[in-house]
Amino acid sequence: MPDEFKNEFLKRHIFLYRAMFSLILCLICMTKAAGLYQSKGLLIFYVLIYLFLWGGEEFLYSGKDKEKRRYYLYSVLTAAALLAMTVASFFGRLPVFCAFGNLMIGILLITDDYILCNVYNTLIALIRRFIYSFLLSMAVFRPYWGTLKNTWKTLLLLDAFLVFLTVQLTASMIYLIITYHDKRYNKIYFKHLDVIEENKNLQTLQDKIEKVNSEINFQRLNLTRANSELERMNVEIRSLIDVMKFFSSGFSIREHAEYMLKNVTNVKKTSVSGLYLEKDAAMQDRPLIVIDPADSSLAPVLQRDIEQIYNLICEENIREPFVLIENFKPNSHYLQSDRVCNAIAFPSYDGDRFYGVMVCVATSYDFFLSGLSFYESAVMDFTSALISDRLYSQTEDMAKKDGLTKIFNRVYYNRFFPELCDQVMAGNSVMSLAMLDIDHFKSVNDTYGHLAGDEVIKMVAKVDEKYAEKYGGYAVRFGGEEFLLILPGVGLSDAKDILQQLHRDVRETVIHFEDKDISVNLSIGIACYKETCGNLQEIVDRADRAMYYSKEHGRGRITIDGKEGE
Ligand code: GH3
Ligand code: MG
Ligand code: MG
Repeated sequence: MPDEFKNEFLKRHIFLYRAMFSLILCLICMTKAAGLYQSKGLLIFYVLIYLFLWGGEEFLYSGKDKEKRRYYLYSVLTAAALLAMTVASFFGRLPVFCAFGNLMIGILLITDDYILCNVYNTLIALIRRFIYSFLLSMAVFRPYWGTLKNTWKTLLLLDAFLVFLTVQLTASMIYLIITYHDKRYNKIYFKHLDVIEENKNLQTLQDKIEKVNSEINFQRLNLTRANSELERMNVEIRSLIDVMKFFSSGFSIREHAEYMLKNVTNVKKTSVSGLYLEKDAAMQDRPLIVIDPADSSLAPVLQRDIEQIYNLICEENIREPFVLIENFKPNSHYLQSDRVCNAIAFPSYDGDRFYGVMVCVATSYDFFLSGLSFYESAVMDFTSALISDRLYSQTEDMAKKDGLTKIFNRVYYNRFFPELCDQVMAGNSVMSLAMLDIDHFKSVNDTYGHLAGDEVIKMVAKVDEKYAEKYGGYAVRFGGEEFLLILPGVGLSDAKDILQQLHRDVRETVIHFEDKDISVNLSIGIACYKETCGNLQEIVDRADRAMYYSKEHGRGRITIDGKEGE
């Protein structure tokens, strides 16, 4: 019998035993009190037997002893009680109802002994049951044996046999019930084992699924990372294409630099990016510095140091990206600021020639860890564009400007002058034009040689350009030693003052050629739309005529159109 079942059985039985022993003890006491039986000794003996049994049972059910020993003890208790009852039967005869009580208790004891000790259908069990039944029959029926007739004796024997049969039948039924329950229990138990096994399999499956899931999640994460990397690269490539498109749409170095930096800031989210181009590369008389600040407080720091960074790159001949500051750790003493966390310089060069440098600054940690190729490509594209811009500019200069003096040539004058006239007329504005001719230039050539003559021409052109720039006009080499100064928006009186200054400047400038000092004078004619000439088409002829007047009237003077006599 399974132990849990046995324990349940014992728990319920203790109440039955307590009631039964109380009842039988009361019965014995009442028998004595009612005077139904006189032998005090026998009653005490029975009281002792029941007290012994009761005590034994209480001890057993209290569960203080070990399981196995408890059942042996129960067998000993049963055997001892039955033996004691049998012994008692030799000393007297109890009233019939007491004997019946003993019989009932005896049957109960024997049945419990089977259940508790698991002895059912073995030969030993049968013998044990027979001995117990025999002892019980002896204890209950023997005292009556001598007083009975043969018929009653036969009936008693039959009764004893019935006791044995009852015990045997009860045992068999209990055995059947227990076997049935055992089978069910085993079935359930194995089913339970199956379920446990199945659960284990399910658990393993679940673990596998979890593993696969985490693997899938990991892959998904990788994919997401790769996707965002691709997305980033896509954005960068698109941006570079945009920049290239922009580069091919024009030839302005400054605009190209600004567009490239704006793209770098937009794509990479740098705090500030700047580009430095040395003056020759930028084709102007001072270096070009363009700063694109996302964080305007950092722009002055870059503005301050970018030229020195370029100088360092040239001195050290650095052609790779140069880390200036890495996570607040400086590699040079430039861009020192408590907010500059990372800074890298990207040189712009072609062969041996350095053009400039792009510097990118970030205020966050590990900013450039995602790679530098975008910045390098941007600078390389810009450098190519810069080379094209310079070529274009040089070609354009060659087409527009005079080779010797670098001021506008006659060809370009023919192109822009009609447009300029249209603008002046459309804006209902004024315009002054002066024709300048070097006096006795031929004799300069003759006296000092052509190279000296060239230097003189260059000097006059330079002065002409100076005044053109100063007053927003144009200086043109009109002929060999003839020049124009075109002053849109300048009236006659101002033009006179300007030309007087220019005239003085040229006169006072001495050309040192070899060991000779050469100075020249100019004959100038001024015409002014609308003050001296109402038709812009004629302004050049009018100025030329005035200039001739100067030539013909002593040279080295200024003549105003229409006021030749003055
Ligand atoms: P005038 O005072 O009347 O203007 O006399 P001029 O000698 O200045 O004028 P002319 O027209 O007789 O001589 C102009 C000379 O300038 C003729 C030419 O050889 C010279 N010339 C023209 N272009 C150049 C040039 O590019 N370089 C040099 N060295 N001489 C030039
Ligand atoms: Mg001339
Ligand atoms: Mg001349």
